[in-house]
Amino acid sequence: MDVRSLSIADPDPRVGDRISKLKPEEYGHQHAKFVKVNGKTQVFQENETILEVTLDKPLNAGAKALIELDFEGQVPLQIRRSGRNNSEGIDYSMTQWYPKLCEYDRNGWHPNPYIGREFYGNWGNFEVNITLDKKYTIGGTGILTNPLEIGKGYEGSQKVKTPAGDKLIWKFKAENVHDFAWAADPDYKHTTAQVENGPLLHFFYQNDPTYGKAWEEGQELVVKGFKYLSDHFGQYPYAQYTIIQGGDGGMEYPMATLITGNRKVPSFVGVVLHEAAHSWYQGVLATNEALYPWMDEGFTSYASNEAFNTLFANRIPGDHSDAYQGYYSIVAEGKEEALDTHADHYITNYAYGTASYSKGEMYLAQLGYIIGKENLDKGLLKYWDMWKFKHPTADDFIHVMELQSGMVLDWYNEYFVNTTKTIDYSITSISGTANKSTVTLKRMGLMPMPLEVEVLSREGKRTMYYIPLDLMRGEKSKENYPYEWKQLPDWKWVSETYTIEIPMPATNILSIQIDPFEMMADIEKENNIMQLEAGENFKMKN
Ligand SMILES: [Zn+2]
Repeated sequence: MDVRSLSIADPDPRVGDRISKLKPEEYGHQHAKFVKVNGKTQVFQENETILEVTLDKPLNAGAKALIELDFEGQVPLQIRRSGRNNSEGIDYSMTQWYPKLCEYDRNGWHPNPYIGREFYGNWGNFEVNITLDKKYTIGGTGILTNPLEIGKGYEGSQKVKTPAGDKLIWKFKAENVHDFAWAADPDYKHTTAQVENGPLLHFFYQNDPTYGKAWEEGQELVVKGFKYLSDHFGQYPYAQYTIIQGGDGGMEYPMATLITGNRKVPSFVGVVLHEAAHSWYQGVLATNEALYPWMDEGFTSYASNEAFNTLFANRIPGDHSDAYQGYYSIVAEGKEEALDTHADHYITNYAYGTASYSKGEMYLAQLGYIIGKENLDKGLLKYWDMWKFKHPTADDFIHVMELQSGMVLDWYNEYFVNTTKTIDYSITSISGTANKSTVTLKRMGLMPMPLEVEVLSREGKRTMYYIPLDLMRGEKSKENYPYEWKQLPDWKWVSETYTIEIPMPATNILSIQIDPFEMMADIEKENNIMQLEAGENFKMKN
């Protein structure tokens, strides 16, 4: 992680060269003391962040073994995600605090050395007992099973009986999660809020005069957002979700998130909903994040923005334009790397971030344009039902959307995920007679797409000409626009041009526009619109 941060062109400013300057007592480490399988001590080797264990006997598929691992660790000074004494004075942000079993899946082992990026792991049932000085309050993954010994806001209306001594043993249980995170601080305020037909939310924060109020005022909006996520993306499967002040920004863990506290209400709600939405894509669907970071960060950004945009008056429901803008910028700078790049191996953090978050979010918004928003909405619920707790791949996802829409969509991943080929369509000419006009369109970019072309007459009538792409072997239903909808024959992807016949003279047309709602990632918008002047002349709008 340190070497990567020192050598990458655009290091995360939270890390920079800070690790290289840590003193021995500030450094983080975990070392195994022994590994036993079915009671027998095993040979192991520490290889940086990966512990390699060579079993004395192979473990066959479907067989069971009891693995015991004893380890000791030093909690680092908090640099990224995990550690002690973060910048806001939280004592312990305890994430990545124990050796976690690597995932072995249908494609083999995935022992990615940890450089501060993605996670991929096995689901399991956790029982975690934490012994700590009585002054601390703990929030984390899992349900506290001894609340009447602990109190600290977990006891509800019941009476607490604290055991004698200066320490408490906190007993947590979590089922079907692939990680366990917690944080501890003596100054936490602990409040709860119930999501209707959903989890109890726990909030742990310092009651700071500058931001404590935002944590209180934002809770009701978080409850609404959580409900939206469950209604639209699948029922959240756990009884609890915990929002903890800690770490260094926002980071998702099963049943919990650590976020920094100093925020205003919209930032607080936005970050909490983003991290909460990871419960769907990182926690339960849990794609291999290293291979498919966009199916985690991108889908999470899509879902949390869908929820967020319904909560604030200054937001437009369904708006994902920020993601499109991020993508357009990196394409213009020539720094884009393909979505199918392994998360650890992008050349720059910039390319990783834009691909994973912006292009991943746009992938879904644009898919909604291709198959229709209703199919996208239903398809995302179908994806959840078919693939929760199963680690889906990009092929698995697009196949669900094929089942939902009845279209063939392999081409979409082949272009948009596996390459950096871009979309650009233009209107090149219009000609005509006294009663009809012929408009010629041209595919300028290398990625083909279905098109919506709006024709606006001088009387103010809008008609949407819909041109399916032959590769789809199908078409979407009329969109819910207040327009006349005319479906045209397929555009065969090999053809560079396509003509539309419009049953009115060019003098009756005010404008023609490709993709007026800007749902397509067309990198050159200026050639998408043709405005016609009275008298059969036309000009391109600038
Ligand atoms: Zn995220």
